Amino acid sequence: MSKVLSSGSTIGILGGGQLGQMLSMAAARLGFKTHIFEPSANPPASNVSSGFTQAEYDDYDKLKKFASSVDVVTYEFENIPTGALDIIEKECEIFPSREALKISQDRLLEKKFINKLGFKTASFCEVSSQEGLIFALENLGTPSILKTRRFGYDGKGQVKLGATSNPKEIWESLGEKELILEGFVDFSHEISVIGSRSKDGQISCFDPGENVHKDGILRTTTVPANLTTQQKTDAVLITAKILESLNYIGVIGVEFFVANSTLIINEFAPRVHNSGHWTQNGCTVDQFEQHIRAIAGWNLGNGERHCDVIMENLIGDQINKTNDLIADGSVSLHLYGKVDIKPGRKMGHFNRIIK
Ligand code: AMP
Repeated sequence: MSKVLSSGSTIGILGGGQLGQMLSMAAARLGFKTHIFEPSANPPASNVSSGFTQAEYDDYDKLKKFASSVDVVTYEFENIPTGALDIIEKECEIFPSREALKISQDRLLEKKFINKLGFKTASFCEVSSQEGLIFALENLGTPSILKTRRFGYDGKGQVKLGATSNPKEIWESLGEKELILEGFVDFSHEISVIGSRSKDGQISCFDPGENVHKDGILRTTTVPANLTTQQKTDAVLITAKILESLNYIGVIGVEFFVANSTLIINEFAPRVHNSGHWTQNGCTVDQFEQHIRAIAGWNLGNGERHCDVIMENLIGDQINKTNDLIADGSVSLHLYGKVDIKPGRKMGHFNRIIK
């Protein structure tokens, strides 16, 4: 039986980006210390944590030392190498579980898992050779989207294929890796549900948010999402079923396409999620606190939405809007303290209460 952590315990977090930063702040509010493990120097989370180890994920000595100095380990991104998890697991528990992580790390396993639960995904074909790509294209037709099975995020590692696409060139451009071809979903809009499950099996889901992506990167999330009552209930029940079937502990983000009024699951992330940032200003207990509560073995908090919110990301040079947003005064600003401005880099976000 997994232990219940008391305030004052230390939570280890793999990854020091903005999600690790906001997890650290939520943990600190509950009296926990955090220790960040991250390869790069001066990551956002290290400014708000009590411990920071700068090391690569294959530095097993540092990983062992890190894991033996904390009471539980969680993570802010899903592409953690298996070898690192093997080391950590010998020292302390990891939440969410390795099983959830393994499935979400591989788009093929993920789709098979979702279909097995009886839920819809885009149609798909495994692709592991140029001939395989030609065969998959004959099956699924165009438009379709070719994605790397692993290590993709924010639209990276994927390409949209049309009638004139050249399979040889495309296969080579994606690095001849293990791929998946997905039928193009002609959706009207995209939504996501942020759900959480505690160690004793309590489940709580935040209201679905409606997401707008540009170039594969999330731009805005609006709550409430444009859904019928039935669709909203279905999205929440699907999320709960995924949590239940994985015996999951922590927060999950499940992304859906809404196409012809049908909910089609795109993917899930076994962690706090960018499309859940609205909860920071729209709920008594936000996704970050909910995650810390769950992995600490505490009861989940009240995630009921008390207002309508729009969350907007500040991407790349949109961070230059900061002075205007400060002058505006009516939005809640969340800045990550990143120094280098790069195209596509998430620099901050803000939440605006609509009503
Ligand atoms: P992903 O990295 O798989 O979440 O994809 C990023 C974004 O690309 C999604 O949020 C969608 O806007 C779009 N997208 C991904 N897969 C598909 C698909 N099969 N059909 C249509 N659009 C897609």
